[in-house]
Amino acid sequence: MIQSILSNLAVILISHLAVTTLINYRERFSKLLLQISIVLLMSITIISMFYLPIVFDDYRFDLRLIPLMMLAIFCGWRTTLSTLLIACLWRLSMGGDGAIPGVVYGMLLPTVFALLYAKIIGRKGRFWDRFVIVSVCWTLSDIPLMFILNDGFEILKQIGLWRYSSFLLATLIYYTVIQIENNRLVMKERLVFLATHDQLTGLLNRQECIRLTEVKAKSNSKNVKHFIAMFDIDNFKSLNDRYGHVVGDEALIQMAQIFKSFETDQVNIARYGGEEFMMHICAPEREVAITLLENIQERIRNTAFRVTQNHTVPVTVSIGLADWVENTTVHDAIKEADRKLYLAKDRGGDHLVV
Ligand code: GH3
Ligand code: MG
Ligand code: MG
Repeated sequence: MIQSILSNLAVILISHLAVTTLINYRERFSKLLLQISIVLLMSITIISMFYLPIVFDDYRFDLRLIPLMMLAIFCGWRTTLSTLLIACLWRLSMGGDGAIPGVVYGMLLPTVFALLYAKIIGRKGRFWDRFVIVSVCWTLSDIPLMFILNDGFEILKQIGLWRYSSFLLATLIYYTVIQIENNRLVMKERLVFLATHDQLTGLLNRQECIRLTEVKAKSNSKNVKHFIAMFDIDNFKSLNDRYGHVVGDEALIQMAQIFKSFETDQVNIARYGGEEFMMHICAPEREVAITLLENIQERIRNTAFRVTQNHTVPVTVSIGLADWVENTTVHDAIKEADRKLYLAKDRGGDHLVV
């Protein structure tokens, strides 16, 4: 019997490994394909448990409910109900006396309960809530046995402890490995964000913007032209000197929000460093890029930057715009935009030089 319990646990863990691998490569699939793959994998997991029953005297049971509960807790109703449907149909097609009770009490009722409970507690569910789900699901799946089987009460007395403890232990192991993986994923996402974004403003950092720019330039059609714009805030040092660096930081954040509002599939914006920003624009003509930059410049000019509780100051930016011409690198275009930016500064700031 212990061997069968371990086989069920092995199936659960192998399936976890497969789902984790899928999730790790999720950028390569569409969301729908990922969902379908998870449904199929989890269905195979549950169905393979039908063929690895834990035998106790004449009675057979398995841990099929555990993957269903975890789906309900972590994956939402769509994935859970699709998997439930496949598993139930398979079990019904296997026939036998236990088919209908096995489907109704062993899968349907507990899974619907787990889904509803998980929806009520939401993502904030604590370990205790998971314990309630597991215990109620077990009760829903096993207590009806007392009334369905002839000597149901006797059978439950004999196997109840084995069943509940194996159920609880396997759930605990499964839940723990899922949580470890979830924490790892959250950490990875945080690290990727930190490596690709500027921490103060949340804009892309220079390296990531250059990488995205190069990727886009390769994949875009020949009809689209590429432009690089460099921005520099005018007299930013005096704002810092006058009101302090915290106020300077807030002005940079406010500036970044303005830039973000202009971000589209065709426009990438990054904090290049200090009070300088870089923009990659894909446009059919240079005039489109110029109009965009003039709009940004005007928006900044008309924005009140708060420096004290009831005092705001105007801030302006200078911009240099360069065409990213064929057979040159993005660094050449940045250099050219930078050169034009200094011409804009020479004209007294708040200028756009093309
Ligand atoms: P110009 O119009 O010629 O560009 O003058 P400027 O004062 O804007 O340029 P300068 O290069 O003399 O000074 C840039 C200032 O930007 C100096 C530096 O303290 C400030 N700065 C750079 N990064 C940060 C930051 O993250 N936070 C704050 N508060 N200030 C920053
Ligand atoms: Mg500067
Ligand atoms: Mg400046």
